[in-house]
Amino acid sequence: MKNQKLLAAFALLTMLLASTSATAFAASPSLLDQYPDLQHLTALVSESQITPMHLVAYRATKLAMEKLGFQRGDPSVLALTNAGSAIIDDRFPTSSCLDALTLTSGCSESNQNLIAINSGKWKPLWFAFYYKNTEQCVYAEVRSAVLASYMEKWMSASDKSTIQLEFLGLSDDEVFAKVSVENIEANYLLSNPEAWEEKMDNKVFGGNEFSIMTIAACWSRGMPYELLKAAKLHNHICPGLISGILIIEYLDKNLPIEEGDQYYIVLAVPPWCKDDAFQAIYDSTVGKRRMTVMMLSKEQTQQLPENVAGIYVRWDKSDDSGQAMVLTFDWDKASEMSEIERSWFKDFESYKWWYARLKMDIFMLDYLDKPEEFVSSVKEFSISSSSELMALRTAGTNPYVEIGLMPPPQPEIPTWIYAIIAVLAIALVITLGVCVIKLRRKTRS
Ligand SMILES: [Zn+2]
Repeated sequence: MKNQKLLAAFALLTMLLASTSATAFAASPSLLDQYPDLQHLTALVSESQITPMHLVAYRATKLAMEKLGFQRGDPSVLALTNAGSAIIDDRFPTSSCLDALTLTSGCSESNQNLIAINSGKWKPLWFAFYYKNTEQCVYAEVRSAVLASYMEKWMSASDKSTIQLEFLGLSDDEVFAKVSVENIEANYLLSNPEAWEEKMDNKVFGGNEFSIMTIAACWSRGMPYELLKAAKLHNHICPGLISGILIIEYLDKNLPIEEGDQYYIVLAVPPWCKDDAFQAIYDSTVGKRRMTVMMLSKEQTQQLPENVAGIYVRWDKSDDSGQAMVLTFDWDKASEMSEIERSWFKDFESYKWWYARLKMDIFMLDYLDKPEEFVSSVKEFSISSSSELMALRTAGTNPYVEIGLMPPPQPEIPTWIYAIIAVLAIALVITLGVCVIKLRRKTRS
């Protein structure tokens, strides 16, 4: 009897405990129960480690899927973002967005359909998804203040799921400062340039229109990996950057790296977009002194072979010697063949500045294996010691004068010398005049 009473009391206690824990469980709903597709993220982080930084990329992906109608893993989608570069409120790095983007959209850097481009750390975080099948692109720009406040809340919260769910419960307007959808297929833009110019003026993609449209145009036409790598650093694709890729192709054929101790030293004189390609692909960075950058004045340019594109040195560290080439890039030929006027590149008052670049980008993609169509060598020479190389690179020297490709500057004559010459000339005239008068007088007398 006593045992039965004890058993009943135990059963009651168990039921009570069970119902309390059930209430507690209901009060804290699981994130993954409500958003099952976040399950993909647990390949890298546990449920409680999912931050608002992951969730903002997940939200952007869901938004794009809904607006463009694609499924996870569709290879016709290109995801572009400055995640990884932007630092929200100068405190929260955005690199974890890249994991979330890959896991939730299926776009990845290794599949070459996720391109995380470089930007200033202070720039707002943005995501763009281009769907090749419909030619449409969704752009979503994050409100930094909202993301920063949720990151703060998440970090101090003991119950992470409340913050996670609260962030997912916000409306798109609360999370994103701008969401837009546009057709950005290159041929469509080139045939309606005025309409697109107006949209660019209105910053439909937050001022990132040129980056997004040029990278999407080259990606959808199958750009090579080296161009993609250069585009990430340069954060857009322009004919200047592609000229760098063509120079790389030219050097691969004409001045290739043959031994482990060799590398390229680039004298970027004059510099243009091409030089970011050498830094990205050769690791010839300014900081590692494998690139020297100097500008040329208009007068200096006129004294050089047309379209001079720098001095390229294949340096052999073990021999302390190098082989060098001065290369040119034929912009007139490239402009003519792609049917644009060279002057359009500087026409920033109309659509022509981007029209010329986009059109030439597409044209140049077909010539990546024919660099000699545009790249030529105008001088080749050997460098026999590092001090000889240094002589071309120190401040105050003009490397083209050093190698005899252009004349040394004429020494300037100071104006006081002209004044002295004038005074002497006048004195000479007066003396001669006096002498003539005296002679005449003498002959008369
Ligand atoms: Zn550029």
